[in-house]
Amino acid sequence: MDLACPDCGRTYPGDGPWRCQCGHPLEFADRPVPDDKPPAAIDRDKGLWAFSEFLPVERRVTLGEGWTPLVEGDEWGVQFKLESVFPTGSFKDRGAATTVSRALELGVDWVVEDSSGNAGLAVATYAARAGIDAEIFVPAEAKPGKLRAIERTGATLRRIEGTRQDVTDACIEAIESGADEGSEAKTREPVEAYYASHAWDPAFLAGTATVAFEIAAQRGWSAPDAFVTPLGHGTLFLGAYRGFRALLEAGWIDSMPRLLGAQAAGVAPIVEAIGGDPDPASERNDAADGIQIAEPARNDQIIEAVEATDGDAVAVPTAATEREHDRLARAGFHVEPTCATATAALERFRERGVIEDGDDIVTALTGSGLKTS
Ligand SMILES: [Zn+2]
Repeated sequence: MDLACPDCGRTYPGDGPWRCQCGHPLEFADRPVPDDKPPAAIDRDKGLWAFSEFLPVERRVTLGEGWTPLVEGDEWGVQFKLESVFPTGSFKDRGAATTVSRALELGVDWVVEDSSGNAGLAVATYAARAGIDAEIFVPAEAKPGKLRAIERTGATLRRIEGTRQDVTDACIEAIESGADEGSEAKTREPVEAYYASHAWDPAFLAGTATVAFEIAAQRGWSAPDAFVTPLGHGTLFLGAYRGFRALLEAGWIDSMPRLLGAQAAGVAPIVEAIGGDPDPASERNDAADGIQIAEPARNDQIIEAVEATDGDAVAVPTAATEREHDRLARAGFHVEPTCATATAALERFRERGVIEDGDDIVTALTGSGLKTS
């Protein structure tokens, strides 16, 4: 499927570059939306590929991903979508399955990704399953459990000293140095690494959109009033936005949920951009290592999703994250600390009057605690 830039309008063939010449992330030129109403029964044995009518990518690799449980989070007054129970322990498997499938379609045998851990493990694992090479750039300080797991897949691990941005920069430099004239290249060279990026690849968001399809299906084709997620690069946040919007367009649901994001205090560019929280604590929330993204690649699209859904974003400090992390574990939810920003944010959204008692809310618990304990 062809690619197009939503910012400048340039178009590229399906095997075009990983970003537009203008620097903006590319999109698939078309997003499939089915004509029919939802089927009476969905074949859950197909995992998230049960929603292939909405997907611009064909299944070429799978580990049975999808249909994570939707359970009551009683004391929080919300439903939890347990994205922590994926094959590699995070929602990133949604996007890794579709992105590595796209890479296989393009005949790629070498994928590269940069990540604080979860996306790297997901891409490395799906690449291993597909029998292709993976090279993963990670912060030297990333959680050791995540790094060990990446190495166990046979992927090449590149530990980068410095900030999370330094890791991305090193990864992009590696990709561009292998490319023919860098961003001027119209098509990929056969020897070029494929940037299987959760932040940049449109196939990744097509995969994370399936979270919305599952939530709606699990609730009898009804959207919640709001969907709350941790918010770094916006991989799940934007995927959910696109998924719910596609369902609305197809007539499978009647309303859009408000999209509410939990950012890490001290690294909260969306909160700052929308003026969402009058008091974003400035001390960096190092408990939420999964969302410390100072410059999200799709910054403008995240802001658009917040505005289009009457959404909001708040900055969560370390203490609240740690407190919620413990509280979740004691209620039976063994998740990683970054997830706890989402439940910590619930309180802040209630204080701000963004959500009220009785609102019907789904909160994503995005990653397992088993890699970070
Ligand atoms: Zn462009």
